[in-house]
Amino acid sequence: MVSKLLLVLGDQLSMDIASLREGDKVSDVVVMAEVADEASYVQHHPKKIAFIFAAMRKFAKALEQDGWTVAYTKLDDDENSGSIGGELLRRAEEYDAGEVIATEPGEWRLISHLEDLPIPVHQFQNDLFIASHKEFEDWAEGRKALRMEYFYRDMRRKTGLLMDGDKPVGEKWNFDHDNRKPAPDEVTFDGPLKFEPDEIVEDVLDLVETRFDNSFGDLRPFWFATDRGQALEQLNHFIEHGLPKFGDFQDAMLNDNRFLYHGLVSFYMNAGLLSPLEVCEAAAKAYDDGNAPINAVEGFIRQIIGWREYVRGIYFLEGPDYPRRNGLNHQRGLPDFYWGAETKMNCISKAVAQTKEDAYAHHIQRLMVTGNFALLAGINPNEVHEWYLAVYADAYEWVEAPNVVGMSQFADGGIIASKPYVSSGSYINKMSDYCKNCDYSVSKKTGDGACPFNLLYWHFLIRHRDRFDNNPRMAQMYRVFDRMDEERRETVLAEADAFLEKLGKEVV
Ligand SMILES: Cc1cc2nc3c(=O)[nH]c(=O)nc-3n(C[C@H](O)[C@H](O)[C@H](O)COP(=O)(O)OP(=O)(O)OC[C@H]3O[C@@H](n4cnc5c(N)ncnc54)[C@H](O)[C@@H]3O)c2cc1C
Ligand code: SF4
Repeated sequence: MVSKLLLVLGDQLSMDIASLREGDKVSDVVVMAEVADEASYVQHHPKKIAFIFAAMRKFAKALEQDGWTVAYTKLDDDENSGSIGGELLRRAEEYDAGEVIATEPGEWRLISHLEDLPIPVHQFQNDLFIASHKEFEDWAEGRKALRMEYFYRDMRRKTGLLMDGDKPVGEKWNFDHDNRKPAPDEVTFDGPLKFEPDEIVEDVLDLVETRFDNSFGDLRPFWFATDRGQALEQLNHFIEHGLPKFGDFQDAMLNDNRFLYHGLVSFYMNAGLLSPLEVCEAAAKAYDDGNAPINAVEGFIRQIIGWREYVRGIYFLEGPDYPRRNGLNHQRGLPDFYWGAETKMNCISKAVAQTKEDAYAHHIQRLMVTGNFALLAGINPNEVHEWYLAVYADAYEWVEAPNVVGMSQFADGGIIASKPYVSSGSYINKMSDYCKNCDYSVSKKTGDGACPFNLLYWHFLIRHRDRFDNNPRMAQMYRVFDRMDEERRETVLAEADAFLEKLGKEVV
C-alpha cells in the first residue's frame, strides 16, 4: 500500500512543484498520464502535443533517476482510461492509495474535474508563479481599474528585480518609450536554438503523427527543447545574443525573420521547465554585468513579472465564465484563412504560415495582425479563443484567455485593456515590411485594392460608437471620422460592408 498519489500534469514539469514537495519518495507514487481528453479538448497543434508529451516522458525519467516511483501512462497504452481523473482512479486501485496530492491546474475545467472525483484530491497552490491568488485579490480589492502597470511595480518590489532599495533602477519603472522601434533592416540574432529530436522525442513524434494527423499544423521539423537542460540552453542563448535588442525591436515584424529578438521561453516557462524568477534573474544579471541595456531588460522583465502574472491573476479573479465572454456581441464565424486557406492579406498569411509551421507567433503578430483583424471584422471571440488555444505551443487557458478574450478582443468589457487594440493598416506598415509584399495597398483608404484593415478600422469604430464615443483615448479618432466629407464616410463603410460580405465566400 502507498499512502498517496502525487499528480504531475504536463504543464507542471518542475522538481519544485507543490505536489512533489508535499510527497514522500519512499511511500508515494507520482502519477503522470498522456490522456485523450487533454490532447483533444481543442484541436491542438501537433507540435504542441508532441512538445508536452516528450517533455513529460523526459521529466518522468528524471524523477525516477531522482528516486521517485512514477506510474506513467502513455497515450497508446491499452489500459489508458482517456482522462486525468480516470487515470487517478485506476492508479489509486492499483496502488491501494486513498488520496491524491495535486498542484492546482491552470484552468477551471481541470480544477473542477479534480474536485468532482470520488477520492480526496488536495490541490495545492502552484507556487511556480510569483503572485499567489490571495496577493492578486488583495491588490485588486477596491480598485476601480486593474491596470497592469501598478501591479507590476508591486512585483518589482516583491522580487527585488531591478530595484535599488525601494527605488527602481534607472529611476524609472518603465522604459517603454525607448522601445518599439520599426522593423530593422538587419537582424543580428539567429533566433532560437533548434534541438535535434532524440529517441524519446522521435517515439512521441511517431505517436502524434498517427493519432493527430488531421490537426492544423506541421509536426516536423520538430526543434523544441524538451527537457530542463535544453530549456536552460535556450534561455542562456537568448540572454546572451537576443536580449540586448529585445526592447528596441519587440514590436517589429519581418517577412523573412519570424523570431527577431524574441526569447522563445514561454513554451518552457509555461510547461514548468523554467521558472519565471530564474528567467528574470538571468536577464537582470545581464544588465548588472553590462551585457544588456536597461530598456531591454526592464521591458523583458515587465512582460514576465508584470503581464504574465497579471493575466493569470485576472483569469482566476474573474472566474470560469471569463473565456466565454462576448462584451461586444461579435458573432461572425472565424474565416478559413486562420486555418491556412488562401488570403491576399500578406500580414495574415505570414502570421498564419509561421503559426502552422512553428506553433509560434510573437506578441505583435498575435495582437495586431490576427487579433486586430478578428476584432475589426467582428469575429465571435469564442471562436478566436479556441483558435489561439489550439495553435500556439505556449497556450494554456490561464494565459491565453485573458490575452485573447481580454486584451485582444475586448470581450471582457475592458477589464484588461482601457481601449480596444485596433489599428488600420498604417500600424502594420510602420512596424513591418509586410505591406510591401501585399496584394492590397496600405496607402489606399478606399477603392480597388484598399487595405482591408483601413476599411474595417472605421467600420469597427462606427459599429461601436455608443460604446466608445466617450472613451477619452478614442475621442480623437471619432473626430477624425466626423471631419471626413460625407461621401467619403459612406464609401468607407459601404466598402467595409462589401468586404465583410465576401469573408468566408471568396478569397480576400
Ligand atoms: C492574442 C494573444 C494571445 C496570446 N496567447 C498566449 C498564450 O497562449 N501563451 C502565452 O504564454 N502567451 C500568450 N500571449 C503573450 C505573448 O504573445 C507570448 O507570451 C509571447 O509571444 C511568447 O513568445 P516569447 O517567449 O518569444 O516572448 P518574448 O517576446 O520573448 O517575451 C518574454 C516573455 O514574456 C511573457 N509575456 C509577454 N507578453 C505576455 C502576455 N501578454 N501575457 C503573458 N505573458 C507574456 C512570456 O512569458 C514571454 O515568454 C498572447 C498574446 C496575445 C496578444
Ligand atoms: S496592406 Fe493591409 S492587408 Fe496587406 S500586409 Fe499591409 S496591413 Fe496587411
